[in-house]
Amino acid sequence: MSLKLDRSAELFAEAERLLPGGVSSPVRAFKSVGGTPLFMRKGEGALVWDEDGNQYVDYCGSWGPLALGHAHPKVVEAVQQTAALGTSFGTPTRAEVELAKLVQELQPLAERVRFVSSGTEAVMSAVRLARGFTRRDLLVKFDGCYHGHADYLLVKAGSGLATTGQADSAGVPEGIAGTTCILPLNDPDAFRSLMSERGSEVAAVIIEPLPANCGLLTQNPEFLQLLRSETEKAGALLIFDEVISGFRIGPGGMAGKLGIRPDLLTFGKVIGGGLPVGAYAGRQEVMEHVAPLGPVYQAGTLSGNPVAMAAGKAALEVLRDGGFDALEQNARTLVELLQSTLPQYPVTLVRHGSICWLSFQQPAPQAWHDVDRAGAERYKVFHRALLERGVYLAPSAYEVFFVSTAHTQEQLEETAQAFGAALALAFGSDDD
Ligand SMILES: *Cc1c(COP(=O)(O)O)cnc(C)c1O
Repeated sequence: MSLKLDRSAELFAEAERLLPGGVSSPVRAFKSVGGTPLFMRKGEGALVWDEDGNQYVDYCGSWGPLALGHAHPKVVEAVQQTAALGTSFGTPTRAEVELAKLVQELQPLAERVRFVSSGTEAVMSAVRLARGFTRRDLLVKFDGCYHGHADYLLVKAGSGLATTGQADSAGVPEGIAGTTCILPLNDPDAFRSLMSERGSEVAAVIIEPLPANCGLLTQNPEFLQLLRSETEKAGALLIFDEVISGFRIGPGGMAGKLGIRPDLLTFGKVIGGGLPVGAYAGRQEVMEHVAPLGPVYQAGTLSGNPVAMAAGKAALEVLRDGGFDALEQNARTLVELLQSTLPQYPVTLVRHGSICWLSFQQPAPQAWHDVDRAGAERYKVFHRALLERGVYLAPSAYEVFFVSTAHTQEQLEETAQAFGAALALAFGSDDD
């Protein structure tokens, strides 16, 4: 089989002369799987079409936001109607009140909500708020969690446990990287020992309660409970970065599922229904330290944009009114359909709600240092074979894939068959 991608290739060649690497965000470049990135032209439900007219069942879902699939009629209608009234005012609008109300209905821990325009911005602002609230500087993050591209979050672990971080990107001053401490995931001893040494300096501990940016690294609930109890003891804040898991793992996200109450939560992706929305939210006492009420400054010309708010509201309403159940049901169906195929290979399908990851090892890892990098080579073959069979997954072995409410039984069946053929190729039993 071979895929015709001439138009995508032409556009990519042109894009490379205009945009660094031909893309607006690096993971889109197909660097880790090879080949030309697909230029998408249209999406409807679970399907997307590229510029060459090839059709795929989409499991990338714009990297998470599209819990309802593409061009959901309610979302499209909300965008059209709102846009026709003007796209931005720079004043408060009804739309942000309505979305905030809905956010709070689904996630009562969001006592106050501040809207921004991306997940990165949400996390950056939440960390500034935590530092302003506690009047401390040190941030603790975990190796294998992604929190957007703020300087002090583009940090990798130094040598040894519980060291302060080293810059993981050019352009990040070491002095700034040094304000972040990196710990291994799911390791209570490392966490306890850091808190006993430096707990009084810690402004906040930030974690993806369901780390879903370097594979899908399941954390033991007791570990997450420990983060809560130790931060509380130390007078530090706990931030749950739910940019991926928020409004996807049920209405209350991971915090709701685990019954853990972080001080602050960050949202992005699903909350905007496919438009650029982020938010940080949490305890009223903390949130009231944000300007104009408090001394922590944070602002945005297009924050709370009415068109984006309307899209988010439409999406969250559909999810609330049966959408969350549909997500769970569709994901469960896919896993069941894969039951006969997967056990033939040394892989593990990790699933939390509608977030899935095919790990090329057994058992699946729970921390980034346990992820076997050799899986990436097999994933290249797997990814290509799926594309050729009309199934679109994110172009990296360490990215999760998303089931939406729009996937039909028939599409899920096609996908399960394609997975079988692609795994056979990835593991070299070339019976295709
Ligand atoms: C995607 C993501 C971010 C960054 O969000 P952007 O909208 O890409 O800036 C932050 N945290 C987590 C957990 C994410 O998954």
